[in-house]
Amino acid sequence: MREIVHVQGGQCGNQIGAKFWEVVCAEHGIDSTGRYQGDSELQLERINVYYNEASCGRFVPRAVLMDLEPGTMDSVRSGPYGQIFRPDNFVFGQSGAGNNWAKGHYTEGAELIDSVLDVVRKESENCDCLQGFQVCHSLGGGTGSGMGTLLISKIREEYPDRTMLTFSVFPSPKVSDTVVEPYNATLSVHQLVENADECMVLDNEALYDICFRTLKLTTPSFGDLNHLISATMSGVTCCLRFPGQLNSDLRKLAVNLVPFPRLHFFMVGFAPLTSRGSQQYKALTVPELTQQMWDAKNMMCAADPRHGRYLTASAVFRGKMSTKEVDEQMINVQNKNSSYFVEWIPNNVKSTVCDIPPSGLKMASTFIGNSTSIQEMFRRVSEQFTAMFRRKAFLHWYTGEGMDEMEFTEAESNMNDLVSEYQQYQDATAEDEEYEEYEEYEEEA
Ligand code: GDP
Repeated sequence: MREIVHVQGGQCGNQIGAKFWEVVCAEHGIDSTGRYQGDSELQLERINVYYNEASCGRFVPRAVLMDLEPGTMDSVRSGPYGQIFRPDNFVFGQSGAGNNWAKGHYTEGAELIDSVLDVVRKESENCDCLQGFQVCHSLGGGTGSGMGTLLISKIREEYPDRTMLTFSVFPSPKVSDTVVEPYNATLSVHQLVENADECMVLDNEALYDICFRTLKLTTPSFGDLNHLISATMSGVTCCLRFPGQLNSDLRKLAVNLVPFPRLHFFMVGFAPLTSRGSQQYKALTVPELTQQMWDAKNMMCAADPRHGRYLTASAVFRGKMSTKEVDEQMINVQNKNSSYFVEWIPNNVKSTVCDIPPSGLKMASTFIGNSTSIQEMFRRVSEQFTAMFRRKAFLHWYTGEGMDEMEFTEAESNMNDLVSEYQQYQDATAEDEEYEEYEEYEEEA
C-alpha cells in the first residue's frame, strides 16, 4: 500500500480540490456518502492510495482542507461530496489573507499552520507506507500561495524523503483583477523550486484561452476553468490510482520526468477538450487523440512547445484501445518532430494505456511534458513582477507584515535563474558535449 496525503488550501485550492474528489469518486464508484457502488474490481484495487477505509466499510478521502477564512470550505461542505470528508480535517481561520502572500506565509497563516500539520501528521501516521503528498493551490492569492508554500516547506522538513507533488494554478490578468498576483506567484515559485519535487502547472491564461477559443465560451467562469483542471488532474493521477506499470507512484513519475532537480515544472495537455456539461458524441481515434494531446492549443500552460524542446514527456491513454497503435502513434510523433526532443536523453517519451476511461468519455489522453518552453510562462510572470518591483509598488503591504525587500530580490533572481537554466538545456546539443570533451582533451594534452 502506497498512500498519498492530499491537501487543498485557499479559495482556488479548495475549489479545484473539491472537483478533483468528485471526479475521482465517480471513477472509483464511490458515492457521496463514501459507499462503494461500482462495478469493477479495478476501481478498488488501489483505492487506498487516496482513501482510508473506515471500519463501517466507507471510503474517506485522505484529504486535509485548509483556509484562512471559512467561506469556501463551507461551500465545499455543503457541495455534492461535502459529507464524504472527515470533519476534523477541515482547518480554517477567520482573518483571511487579503491576497497577501506575507499574511499567508508569515503572519496569519503561520498562526494556523500547526493545526494543519497536526492533521497532516495524523493522516500520515495512519498510513502503511506513505509515498508522499499532493497540494492543490493557486499561486496568485494569499492563502494557497503563502500558506500553501509554508506548509510545503514544513512537510519537507518533517518528511524529507517523501515526494511532494503540487497542482499549482498560475495567475493571469485575463482571469483576475488583483494587481499583486505576480508578486505572490514569484514568491511562491521561489519556494516551489526548492521544496517541491513535481509541479503540475495549471495556468489560468491557457485555461481561459482554451475556454474562449476552443470551447467558444464567451465569458468563462471559474467553474469552466475548473472543469478543465479536474479532467487534467484525473488524467495525471490515473497511473497512481489504477493498476499499471508506468509512473505508478510519485517517485517513479519524478524519476522519469525530472532530469535536473530544479526543472520539475510540467506542462500538462488533455484530449479531447470538452466544456462543462457537454457530451462528446463522436469517439476519437488513437491518431486524433495523439495529435490533439501534443498540440499547443491543448496545453494547460500558455507556452508553445515548439518554441522549446522536450527534456522528457509521458502520456496516458485511457479507454479500450490497442497498445500497439498507441506506441506506433507516439513513435510517429517523435520521428516527425525529432528536433523538438533533446537528443541527449534517449527514449525520453513514455506512454501507457489504462483500460478505464474517464466518466463520460470512451477514450481520452493526458500528457505530462517537461518542456524548456515553459520558460515563456515564467518570463510573463517575471515581467509583470519586475514592472512593479522596480518602483517598489505595493511593497508596503508585504513589509508591513514583517517581510524584507531582500526576499523579493531573491525570489526574482531565483525565477530568472530558472528561466536561464531552461534556456541552457534548450540550447544544449550532443555536439556541444563532444566539443567540450575535445577541449578538455586539448587542455590535458
Ligand atoms: P487564496 O484564497 O488567498 O488562496 O486566494 P485565491 O485562491 O482566490 O487566489 C487568487 C488566484 O487564484 C487568482 O489568480 C484567481 O484567478 C485564482 N482563482 C481563484 N479561484 C479559482 C478557481 O476556482 N479556479 C481557478 N482556475 N483559479 C482560481
